[in-house]
Amino acid sequence: MVNTTGIHKVRTIMSRIAFCMECRQDVNLSLRGKTDSAELKGEVYGFTSQNAYCNECGTEVCVPEIEDENLKALYDAYRQRHGIISLDDIRAIPEKYNIGKRRLSLLLGWGGQTFSRYYDGDMPAKQYSETLRRILADPAYYLSLLERKKQSSY
Ligand SMILES: [Zn+2]
Repeated sequence: MVNTTGIHKVRTIMSRIAFCMECRQDVNLSLRGKTDSAELKGEVYGFTSQNAYCNECGTEVCVPEIEDENLKALYDAYRQRHGIISLDDIRAIPEKYNIGKRRLSLLLGWGGQTFSRYYDGDMPAKQYSETLRRILADPAYYLSLLERKKQSSY
């Protein structure tokens, strides 16, 4: 059995309309979650995927946004197993400290685009992930980085 503990999130996806290849017209879709698994970097991960079906004929319809969501669910499973900070947590950091992505990246001593890439979904390496976790959990650590930066620029 594939371990899917903790990654079952209730995702509210409104009913939507898409083009059905079978019906040759725009149709209403029904979304159904199913237990899925996929391989990532040589390991298999279980996650809950959403699949959209045509309300008229029942054919599965491919919706790019839903595919993106499913990919995100797979990556969440990977992050969880490897102890990598979640995307939601990464995105909470600039908001928490009211700092721009580029400035934050430079503050951490990284390249100017590094944090932005993680923010957009790139998987940080363990070491980078630990730094991000720490900065989110520990405002004193964030302030110490700010202080250090200030001193080094004089
Ligand atoms: Zn159809």
